[in-house]
Amino acid sequence: MGKLRIDPVLLEAAMFFIRRGKQVFLVGGAVRDLLRGKAPKDWDLATDALPEEVISLFNRVIPTGIRHGTVTVRFKGHSIEVTTFRTESAYSDGRRPDTVSFTPSIEEDLSRRDFTMNAIALELPLGRKVDPFDGEGDIRRRLIRCVGEPERRFSEDGLRPLRALRFAAQMDFAIDPPTLAATGGALQTIARVSPERIRDEFDRIVASPVPSRAFIPMEKTGLMALLFPELAACRGVEQRGFHRFDVLDHSLLACDCAARYGASQPVRLAALFHDIGKIQTRRLTEEGVWTFYRHERESVRLTGNILSRYRYPNGVIDSVCHLVGEHMFNAGEIRSDAAVRRFIIRVGEENLQDIYTLRMADAWATAGHEPPPAFLAPLTERVAHILTQNRAFSLRDLAVTGRDLLAIGVKPGPRMGIILNELLETVIDDPAQNSREKLLEIAVNLNRRYS
Ligand code: ATP
Ligand code: MG
Repeated sequence: MGKLRIDPVLLEAAMFFIRRGKQVFLVGGAVRDLLRGKAPKDWDLATDALPEEVISLFNRVIPTGIRHGTVTVRFKGHSIEVTTFRTESAYSDGRRPDTVSFTPSIEEDLSRRDFTMNAIALELPLGRKVDPFDGEGDIRRRLIRCVGEPERRFSEDGLRPLRALRFAAQMDFAIDPPTLAATGGALQTIARVSPERIRDEFDRIVASPVPSRAFIPMEKTGLMALLFPELAACRGVEQRGFHRFDVLDHSLLACDCAARYGASQPVRLAALFHDIGKIQTRRLTEEGVWTFYRHERESVRLTGNILSRYRYPNGVIDSVCHLVGEHMFNAGEIRSDAAVRRFIIRVGEENLQDIYTLRMADAWATAGHEPPPAFLAPLTERVAHILTQNRAFSLRDLAVTGRDLLAIGVKPGPRMGIILNELLETVIDDPAQNSREKLLEIAVNLNRRYS
């Protein structure tokens, strides 16, 4: 692999170490990226300087993980993570090493790292390569392989198997069979990893170009049954009818299709989970056909459980559950203008693009081939048209306010809300009614009726 281009700003930062007689190496993902011919997205440095020495070398240093020897140096607009060479002793909780000790040896530091491709160091400023585990060869072979004995490395830190799957999906690398095989034996350790750390890896899998590259080995190793039993249970749930796949293959494919459309995180998550309620709601009709009546409600419940379990922010949970709950709209049944308006209100104008993308991904993953671009066009065109007309989608859009109703004698309280909502329903059915005069007339009648 040819000459590696190291950013001049990084070299400049490295000189601060060199001038003090300290060693400094670029390590981790940045080296991996350089060797793959990609631009690194952030810089991790390893040094024999102790954290206090690093702090004294630079003006702006944040002691991000000083207990583990890591500080963050702010330098010319960059954040550089600098970690003192270290070894790790036992991981009795499978989460964090019990003690870390510093070492003067880069080789020792590299041997605590997870995969060979992540255990390569480039000495700065000249770029001498330190690669004791043939990480470069594995990168060339596109292989994810543990440093040392996989069983031991996975039992030290249960996050590592998940990291392997995440890297596989991100970079389209294969996992070396002994490394993959060690996952099954590490399930107990994985079960003790904090939900937040699991979520961060899961998020990166979902954000990757082809998420199923992680999910398929995740299922095979038993990890899916441990972390996402609701999803694993979809294996073998047959559907027939229009569907070519069982519910699990359909779900994984839908998530891949959402990724192909470049969809946002909530859409990808919704694609993955939109059908998990099918198991609970599945019924065989007398004609021998499977039905899944209102499965989306059960899917919403299970999706909410999963995302809360992994401590997703409420905003994400709400978005994903909303998409899952609305994914079953029937474009052919949304005929009248009023029905289109109700559809817009239910889905929310800001979510329309997402629900279309989800539906395209769902259709693709049902038939096994991409739907034509115009698949949803009859609906999307009508929605676009209605959106250009008089807007009356919420109480805010009404030509009258609560104050107007007070003025005609409606008493404050629940009845006020009921009347306002009836006015909105009227206007959704017929936007021509949305004038002050007409609405006040209707309101007077309603008020009389309710008195
Ligand atoms: P990316 O930044 O794309 O997630 P990365 O390889 O830089 O990839 P980081 O989480 O930033 O991953 O970690 C930096 C380096 O620290 C890794 O390359 C690896 O050498 C080491 N490392 C990180 N997490 C672990 C772990 N759980 N066990 C062992 N080594 C680890
Ligand atoms: Mg990194």
